[in-house]
Amino acid sequence: MSETNLVNDAKIAFIGAGNMAAAIIAGLVKQGVAPANIEVCAPSEGNRARLASEYGVVHSADNNAAAAKADILVLAVKPQMMREVCAQLAEHRNPNCVVLSVAAGITCQSLANWLATPAQPAENIAVVRTMPNTPSHIGLGACGLFASSAVAQTQKDQAQAIMAAVGLAVWVNSEDEINIVTAVSGSGPAYFFLVFEAMIDAAEKMGLDRQTATQLTLQTALGAAKLAQTSEDDAVTLRKKVTSPNGTTERAIASFEQNKLRDTFAAAMQACSDRAQQLA
Ligand code: NAD
Repeated sequence: MSETNLVNDAKIAFIGAGNMAAAIIAGLVKQGVAPANIEVCAPSEGNRARLASEYGVVHSADNNAAAAKADILVLAVKPQMMREVCAQLAEHRNPNCVVLSVAAGITCQSLANWLATPAQPAENIAVVRTMPNTPSHIGLGACGLFASSAVAQTQKDQAQAIMAAVGLAVWVNSEDEINIVTAVSGSGPAYFFLVFEAMIDAAEKMGLDRQTATQLTLQTALGAAKLAQTSEDDAVTLRKKVTSPNGTTERAIASFEQNKLRDTFAAAMQACSDRAQQLA
């Protein structure tokens, strides 16, 4: 059964019609979710009307009306808008919906506090927080998900199905681990872009033209990732297999080790996670 079957009969409302909402909507429709079950809301018509004409989804400027009908309420506005948006939705949304936030750095507790009402205290609000990344825009995302204690198993399955429409979606056990997810997959695309840049610059300096250097670097990255994903060998074994004693690769790896590449990555990822913690 495709994961999106889990949301086939659900009403899904997106608050926000920007890049992330567009990526997820594209993924859901591509995987067969009925566009009529998807409503996208934003104050100005531009983006939401474009999504409606491209994917056949419903669109409106009325967050509250969409949220009142929603089984799954996806919050896809900028983090700085989130408090205001939640406060407006609080009294209007379907209290039985699962709230799925894609916003960086906003905790489940904050979201629940902002969505709480006298009839439904914060601890009873089902909130799932996710940390997506930019390759979601081409269906090759990698995200971590964390569910607050009020989230039922069927709601977890629904949240997972939504994010699986744009790539890999994995659960973490504590909300703090979302900061580690940020350091791995959230910010990870930028680390690889930096590595590409460094390899392309080095190849050019050594005498290759930039276009050839770029083609070779990107195809090598793609091939290495695909090989690592499909092989029965882990990354250590794959590296050892291409590293013949006293050969060319061995020289390069020895140079990386001597220059403390592992420590460099560990320090960068710790700095990223620390910053995510500060922003939360
Ligand atoms: P964006 O600026 O492209 O989209 C934001 C959308 O929110 C716009 O359509 C805007 O009209 C709408 N909006 C603003 N105020 C609103 C309101 N009161 N009611 C309804 N809609 C309103 O932003 P984005 O890049 O899609 O990011 C959305 C969220 O996704 C952010 O919280 C961000 O942290 C998170 N995120 C995005 C990416 C990414 O790749 N773009 C990656 C990780 C996390």
